[in-house]
Amino acid sequence: THDIHIIGGGLAGSEAAWQLAQRGFSVRLSEMRGGGDMTPAHQTDGLAELVCSNSFRSDDSDKNAVGLLHHEMRKLDSLVMRAGEKARVPAGSAMAVDRDVFSAEVQRTLDEHPKVTVVRERVDALPSEGPTIVATGPLTAQALAESIVKATGQDRLAFFDAIAPIVHRDSIDMDICWIQSRWNKRNEASNEDGDYINCPMTKDQYLAFHQGLMDGDKTEFREWEKDTPYFEGCMPIEVMASRGVDTLRFGPMKPVGLDNPRDTTPEFPQGRWPYAVVQLRQDNKLGTLWNMVGFQTKLKYGAQVELFRTIPGLENAEFARLGGLHRNTFLNSPVVLDRQLRLKGAEHIRFAGQVTGCEGYVESSAVGLVAGMMAAAELAGREWQGPPRTTALGALLAHITGDAEAESYQPMNVNFGLFPPLHDVGKKQRKEAYTSRAKADLAEWIARGELVAA
Ligand code: FAD
Repeated sequence: THDIHIIGGGLAGSEAAWQLAQRGFSVRLSEMRGGGDMTPAHQTDGLAELVCSNSFRSDDSDKNAVGLLHHEMRKLDSLVMRAGEKARVPAGSAMAVDRDVFSAEVQRTLDEHPKVTVVRERVDALPSEGPTIVATGPLTAQALAESIVKATGQDRLAFFDAIAPIVHRDSIDMDICWIQSRWNKRNEASNEDGDYINCPMTKDQYLAFHQGLMDGDKTEFREWEKDTPYFEGCMPIEVMASRGVDTLRFGPMKPVGLDNPRDTTPEFPQGRWPYAVVQLRQDNKLGTLWNMVGFQTKLKYGAQVELFRTIPGLENAEFARLGGLHRNTFLNSPVVLDRQLRLKGAEHIRFAGQVTGCEGYVESSAVGLVAGMMAAAELAGREWQGPPRTTALGALLAHITGDAEAESYQPMNVNFGLFPPLHDVGKKQRKEAYTSRAKADLAEWIARGELVAA
């Protein structure tokens, strides 16, 4: 018997196993590949296989949020960063790796670790007892996914991410846009004029925008994604647009009940409703990120930036993430997990990696890393004080475990919009201010002894 069972030997599961084993706990790591199963995206039996690109993105820890995450993970002796270093290939200021060398290095390290037993088996149900970490990723095998649904409730596990673009609030031009809920419903909680930022469009602007949606370059569904049903509620905006020139004006771009206070036309038979409206809704508790309501899309990233910057008020929009639609299994973590990534009501089960709703190789590994540390603290009977909210790890963790808006929860890369804002710092210095604050706070946290072994 082992101290802990980790299900899924991808990026998060491998990292969590390493963190636990290094602290002296014995780990059973169950990975279905190599035991007769495969996911639709993996191609090998190797642990921590990179399924697509070979990049860990920017390695600049002074100006970039993912680069900062690299820095923090190195400080916490991450296996993924260690192996990444060994497998590194030239990529300018980015960190890219040879995927085979990388996976082989993770595999060798865990195979040789006296505290880790890698078992090639598929797990079909959440264990009813015993400390467990579930890190089965965006392509979690079906039986286990059903078992998770049973434990969390039908609508708490998504099988698709239908992502609407998310915009940094401070890049929206509020001289053009205004805040209002349809028919002036006030937001009682915040006492604000409403819950939405509205971007007004004239008829010409709307028609040009509609045409842009029809003409824009789109990504195709992969063969294996075609079988996964998508629902009316998350239909790509361009598919809706293709149903008729006015479909969007009766759907997500509906202008009724939205009075543009800046429209000074003397006659406004319908109130001052614009011809069409793009609405943004707050996406995190800090109020720094706003999502474009109903704008999930298969448009290519370049086409999205170009087209969405033609929307009045979004001319200089900075996107925290662009829209997309992929097969992706992930929990509504802000609702179902506690602050320590444990399943509410079944606290022996912790989740880690992309299934928690982070996005990306580095983020998934990072959440595996903290999940491993949390589990180790628990096994050692110690109170766990998580990394400060001002660090990339802390910010990502806070987002997943409760700061994100549960209703619109969609997978997200790490970005500065998740950090407690530094309003007093000029825009030019802001990135460096975030990273230097994070580095100092992480160093202090480490010095406090949160990393001690069992
Ligand atoms: P995974 O790395 O997928 O690991 C999960 C593991 O669990 C797998 O090894 C799987 O075989 C195993 N498993 C699943 N179910 C069971 C079960 N029931 N029993 C036992 N084992 C099981 N991110 C990027 O940063 N860059 C990219 O280019 C990129 N491309 C992607 C392309 C695709 C097609 C997908 C689906 C995702 C992509 N991602 C990308 C997102 C994400 O970062 C990766 O999917 C990442 O691998 C997630 O790490 P993870 O550890 O959570 O899951």
